[in-house]
Amino acid sequence: EAKSAGRGMIRFHDPQTQSILARRFRLETEFRQAMERKELCLDYQKQVDRRGHCVSVEALLRWQHPEQGLIPPQEFIPIAEDSGLIIPLGQWVMEMACRQLAIWQAQPSTRRLKVSINVSARQFLQSDFVEQVMDTIHHSGAHPEGLCLELTESLVLADLDDALIKMQAFRKQGIQLSMDDFGTGYSSMAYLSRLPFDEVKIDKSFVQQTGENHSGNEWIIIEAIINMAHNLGMRVVAEGVETENQHHLLGQLGCDCFQGYYLGRPVDLSSLDLSLSREIPA
Ligand code: C2E
Ligand code: MG
Ligand code: MG
Ligand code: MG
Repeated sequence: EAKSAGRGMIRFHDPQTQSILARRFRLETEFRQAMERKELCLDYQKQVDRRGHCVSVEALLRWQHPEQGLIPPQEFIPIAEDSGLIIPLGQWVMEMACRQLAIWQAQPSTRRLKVSINVSARQFLQSDFVEQVMDTIHHSGAHPEGLCLELTESLVLADLDDALIKMQAFRKQGIQLSMDDFGTGYSSMAYLSRLPFDEVKIDKSFVQQTGENHSGNEWIIIEAIINMAHNLGMRVVAEGVETENQHHLLGQLGCDCFQGYYLGRPVDLSSLDLSLSREIPA
């Protein structure tokens, strides 16, 4: 717990908090160097449609720390956000992913593959964010139709009017928009109808709470999300699909696309296998 010790000063008495803060401070310093030292890279994870075709890949950032090994994005993205490093970092991700998208689009077998990129709030809130993305795409030679931006609810709600304007601008350029982690915020339902998303991603926490058949309450929620999204003209991607059974049951409820360890883990480019994957029986 923080105790206020006079103006602008906060002291932490709890040793556990102390060590979390120390680690965080160290990581922030090291993260600044990580970008220059090329310790960062992108993994890609497949999104597979009902016929088992890989229609899209999500770019997921990885930090290979020289001593501590792989540091999960959950840990360093917040640091990058707070320190402002997320701006150059996000730009780097955008450049790398667009460059790869252009390569895929130039090959007949992967011509229509899409790339999804996670966007953080601070990145999105920049006044020239739309122009930045469009510049990066054009520079890479990729067609904007292949790019999908994954936005979260909290990002959109940070400034709803501003988000709407930017989203419409992206749509006009042919870029797709996905609502990531859907269902984890409490106002998702109310806002979804007002926002021009192409796609909704059901958060993996829902998928992972599901049981062996359609009888559990989680399935009622998932079915409601799928039906609502479809009625709004949006497609549905399920995140965190780990088992054959989850894949099967989600398919029965009409889910359009599947992402998760059952279909493939996030891997580096050289290990990415885009060939036909598991199929939902018609
Ligand atoms: P997210 O966008 O919701 O990404 C999905 C996360 O679920 C990824 O975690 C992925 O590895 C994980 N996942 C996929 N399938 C399964 C599964 O079957 N089971 C389980 N348990 N997990 C699965 P990851 O790679 O650790 O990324 C975590 C979060 O970090 C992402 O969540 C995203 O919010 C953020 N992130 C990752 N890369 C970037 C980036 O380039 N920019 C920004 N702003 N955020 C990023
Ligand atoms: Mg995502
Ligand atoms: Mg997600
Ligand atoms: Mg998530």
